[in-house]
Amino acid sequence: MDLEEKLTRVRFRVDLTPHIKIDKDLCRTCPDQPCLYVCPVKNYVLKQGEIVFSWQGCLECGACRIVCVNKAIEWSYPRGGYGVSWRYG
Ligand code: SF4
Ligand code: SF4
Repeated sequence: MDLEEKLTRVRFRVDLTPHIKIDKDLCRTCPDQPCLYVCPVKNYVLKQGEIVFSWQGCLECGACRIVCVNKAIEWSYPRGGYGVSWRYG
């Protein structure tokens, strides 16, 4: 089963309070912007030269936090009862 197929089997209960926040000032000084490449659901995108982040589809893998050399990411799990649930469908 490939990633695309696996992603059809997850459900989200989105918390409107973001569980991940980024410091865009630090992002502007980031040379390689690795978050653009590691997030499996492309929550980090580049728009007009700026990193734009959305948390709603987060799989809670933690990869962005690990690769962010600038420590620009404030990361936590969603509040209890929110976030991703696996193995549906
Ligand atoms: S890796 Fe960190 S500092 Fe660099 S663009 Fe992504 S969130 Fe910003
Ligand atoms: S924790 Fe994983 S899925 Fe969530 S934003 Fe970071 S890289 Fe993407």
